Amino acid sequence: MSKALSIHWFRQDLRLADNPALSAAVKQGDVLPIYILDDLNPGEDGLGAASRWWLHHSLAALNDALEGRLRFYRGDPEIIIDDLCARFNITHVYWNRCYEPWQIKRDKLIKQRLTAAEVTVTSFNGSLLVEPWVIAKKDGSPYKIFTPYSRQAALALPPVIDTTPACKVLGKACDCDKALSLTELELLPRIPWYKTIADGWQPGEIGAHGSLNHFLEEGIHSYKEGRDFPAKESVSRLSPHLHFGEISPRQVWSATDRVADDSNSEHFKRELLWREFSYYLLFHWPQLPRKNLKPHFDYFPWQHNKQWLRQWQQGLTGYPLVDAGMRELWQTGFMHNRVRMIVASFLVKNLLIDWRHGSAWFWDCLVDADLASNSASWQWVAGCGTDASPYFRIFNPIIQGEKFDPHGAYTKRFVPELKDLPDKYLFKPWQAPNSILQQAGVKLGENYPVPVVDIKSSRESALSALQYLNDFKRSASSHS
Ligand code: FAD
Repeated sequence: MSKALSIHWFRQDLRLADNPALSAAVKQGDVLPIYILDDLNPGEDGLGAASRWWLHHSLAALNDALEGRLRFYRGDPEIIIDDLCARFNITHVYWNRCYEPWQIKRDKLIKQRLTAAEVTVTSFNGSLLVEPWVIAKKDGSPYKIFTPYSRQAALALPPVIDTTPACKVLGKACDCDKALSLTELELLPRIPWYKTIADGWQPGEIGAHGSLNHFLEEGIHSYKEGRDFPAKESVSRLSPHLHFGEISPRQVWSATDRVADDSNSEHFKRELLWREFSYYLLFHWPQLPRKNLKPHFDYFPWQHNKQWLRQWQQGLTGYPLVDAGMRELWQTGFMHNRVRMIVASFLVKNLLIDWRHGSAWFWDCLVDADLASNSASWQWVAGCGTDASPYFRIFNPIIQGEKFDPHGAYTKRFVPELKDLPDKYLFKPWQAPNSILQQAGVKLGENYPVPVVDIKSSRESALSALQYLNDFKRSASSHS
């Protein structure tokens, strides 16, 4: 019989440092580190294509750090872990908690089953600063508004956040006959569309710390102002690393405290709390990814225009900043936060297309696709979330471009067909005189689209749709 081992089940904690479940497993003795790709019955929240690319490389990096000890499986974790426990005499299983509703449900079942088989299951918080059940209003109900939530969350944090060093996983690499190779997980697509994504990222724990260090040297000191300008390198680009747990929010928070204590670092930490709040909302409102949190939005008169949706997805709306954002997403797997807000507002408010089509596209294309942050942010922009931007706040992509990308460094990078247009017309090429368009080599309707909708009249349509919704809500409440 083989020597007793414990399992550390890696999930969204693909790192060795500040990994509480892994540390506990290592203290217990020899560890069998496993990863299970649970995508054969993915339900509605299966991994998007860009996330699969990231995960492949993140697992490769983790396996390197574990000197080849990581064992890969694909299928139902309940069956796989049961089988491993029985065959390898495993007495303890460790994991860090996940908060997606389907994972919570699955993990509860696995824990019950293993406990019944006298295997000790111990789970930890490895992904959040404050877990969602810790914070509640005085009457015990969950917060719906960010600011009071964030005050409570900040109070729940210890004054100094400690993190732990990397664990050394010991023990002979286990000869698991049913394990697969990383390639056999088939995370990478057959057609390698991801080359442009690969250029900009280094998935894995080393890459995560590289991004953090770069940000703390170059970005944090101008974060508060700079974070709104997509051409500036003022943001951290940590979101995919945080999503896959290649770095913990505790590590990011404490490293920030070490280098800065000013309004920039405060603002940055506030964004980390937005991430926490998204998880909080998802935990307390598990229907967040699919249902309007404001139920009267169920009666919103969405348009079902497939052509417009396609133009938005392809970055061919005729609004240069929107198109730049959508092309950034396609080419790099990422989009700057301000531009995310602008393209989302454009889809939901100028095109009147249901936010769930937008969140599904983001889900497939983003390397940082995160069920909590993506769903909460889309509901926020659409105006149907708990603490949402009011529906009548409609971003104007022309004004936003002129303000936040004044010389078009960002827009021209992703929409090179407009690179020779003067700043004055860059965000509204249809207003440029023919001679200027000609000089810049722009042929509207040929090498760059004419606007898909008129910005002014589409704004008015959005406000009428809102008026309809409000009238509907009033008449529904007067009849109840
Ligand atoms: P920084 O500005 O450096 O912020 C640091 C960290 O704080 C981020 O890495 C992220 O973890 C967190 N954060 C920052 N802003 C937000 C926010 N508004 N909400 C939640 N967390 C935040 N973020 C995702 O991680 N995954 C998503 O799928 C996602 N979808 C979004 C969809 C829409 C429509 C919008 C408007 C925003 C979305 N965001 C999402 C939030 C935000 O855009 C990204 O977290 C941010 O752009 C990541 O870049 P960064 O790491 O450079 O952020």
